[in-house]
Amino acid sequence: MRYSEMFLPTGREIPSDAEVVSHQLMIRAGMIRKLASGIYSYLPTGYRVIRKVEQIVREEMNRAGAEEVLLPLVQPAELWQESGRWVHYGKELLRFRDRHDREYCLGPTHEEVITDLVRHEIKTYRQLPKNLYQIQTKFRDEIRPRFGVMRCREFGMKDAYSFDTDEEGAGITYGKMFNAYNRIFRRCGLRFSAVEADTGNIGGSFSHEFMVIAASGEDSLVFCNVCDYAANIERAEIARPLQEKIDEKNLLPLEEVYTPGVRTIEDVSSFLQVNPQDVVKTLVFNADGQPITVLVRGNGDINPIKLKNYLGCDLLELATDEMIYQATGSTRGFAGAVGIKTEIIADYSLLELAMGNFVMGANREDYHIKNVNMGRDFEVKAFADLRLVKETDHCPRCESTLKFARGIEVGHIFKLGAKYSKAMRATYLDKNGQEQYMVMGCYGIGIGRTVAACIEQNHDEDGMIWPMPLAPHHVIITPVNINDKSQLIAAEDLYQSLRGKGVEVILDDRDGRAGIKFKDADLIGIPLRVTIGPKRLAEGKVEIRTRKSGDVETLPLKEATDFIIKCINKEMSCYA
Ligand code: ATP
Ligand code: MG
Repeated sequence: MRYSEMFLPTGREIPSDAEVVSHQLMIRAGMIRKLASGIYSYLPTGYRVIRKVEQIVREEMNRAGAEEVLLPLVQPAELWQESGRWVHYGKELLRFRDRHDREYCLGPTHEEVITDLVRHEIKTYRQLPKNLYQIQTKFRDEIRPRFGVMRCREFGMKDAYSFDTDEEGAGITYGKMFNAYNRIFRRCGLRFSAVEADTGNIGGSFSHEFMVIAASGEDSLVFCNVCDYAANIERAEIARPLQEKIDEKNLLPLEEVYTPGVRTIEDVSSFLQVNPQDVVKTLVFNADGQPITVLVRGNGDINPIKLKNYLGCDLLELATDEMIYQATGSTRGFAGAVGIKTEIIADYSLLELAMGNFVMGANREDYHIKNVNMGRDFEVKAFADLRLVKETDHCPRCESTLKFARGIEVGHIFKLGAKYSKAMRATYLDKNGQEQYMVMGCYGIGIGRTVAACIEQNHDEDGMIWPMPLAPHHVIITPVNINDKSQLIAAEDLYQSLRGKGVEVILDDRDGRAGIKFKDADLIGIPLRVTIGPKRLAEGKVEIRTRKSGDVETLPLKEATDFIIKCINKEMSCYA
């Protein structure tokens, strides 16, 4: 392409609403423009990178035996009512009515549509397994769109759905997708990890997220320092401690103490001069309209996702003042297990180190109780892993220490089991003529988010540094002065020669200062830049600069094409 003909509006100014580097650079390098909150247009350079990611995804999905389809964006409410998600999906689902007053939504994901398609076409085990994917626009009415295309409302996703006869087959398909995802993200030049994850709105029994490690990531991850355990903090397990009982003779009598206005764990522990781990936090939650009391040691926090999964409820929030008053007869900040009028469940931390004689709220405004003991003073219905993992915890598999990192979720694969096939009656006849539910899996990749994540990992103060497989163009040729005939002719020759060999090349034919052209080339992140200047050209030579290393190679113009092709192939093969 000739730069002068391209639609490539670059800029030096950092947009005020762009908090992360990828968002800033995508705007500055003319890749995207915002149309409305969370809704973006891709300009030619941005769209070229998008298509490169899509192509890698396509090749690897096809290699893994999946077939491409294209499903509608607009979906009828009936299908979502059948699966139950019309009610459960929440406000991210954008709903509307057509002129006949029929209800529809914009697809945030396509489990319903694909299950409907497959249930009508697949009748027997002979037609299974099947794995179908699409690369298509999704709409999710995100509460807080931010970071440009990283968390937007309209975005491109590759989503695949698999149908197997049984769990074993579904496990094999899941493994194939796991491997395909590893290949995809490696080919995109990313440093990433697959971590165990919560299944959220999609559901199912088990899932892995593919996380690009980056400080700007919205997710917190834990990794074992020794074994290969890795998980999203939302899911990271904490092993049940060995249960020790406090010796009965050490139990002290209950003692109510006056603690005026002292509500938080920090305040209670400093007021009463006790360690936070000797205070028990009593939290009343509203789970689908029912109050439930949850206990955790004062030096830990409840993980609401673990709690919601444990309770199996749809709605979970901290109880209102009204609900707290009904359960405790007191105000927020003074709840305790002794005499509370709800069921009580407790985190495993209450079993650690023979916990006893602890402090908790007295269910009376401005009072706490000392020397509370489980069993003697109140009953716990069940103990469970409900706590958020922290730095001092140990690996649930091998008990080694853990390390933490931030990550950007670029892909997510799920074992769905029969969640959708049961709800929507997607069945097949097995070898014995018996009707069985199909066992499903689903597998998503955010295309735009992958591009943004790649920029988060590959940039410097001058701009983006594309790994060759995603680079919008491989080479930019920069004649220092296009008014110098010999420079222009040399540049034109090299341009035609590279184009003839299929190299994606820009000829910067703008009549402007070389410094500005170099700055743009760096900002856009083109991996190789050929500088054609008067001094070198007089010797028949050009300079080739590598964006990533800054290394400059000076070589005869006539060798430039072969050299460039070699560089491209060499870097491409690193990611293959
Ligand atoms: P998140 O936890 O980040 O909201 P999710 O768990 O809702 O993501 P999935 O339903 O697993 O996402 O969707 C599959 C993939 O689609 C994600 O791994 C991510 O790459 C991408 N994705 C999801 N939501 C968005 C969004 N709002 N903007 C851009 N990409 C998204
Ligand atoms: Mg997810």
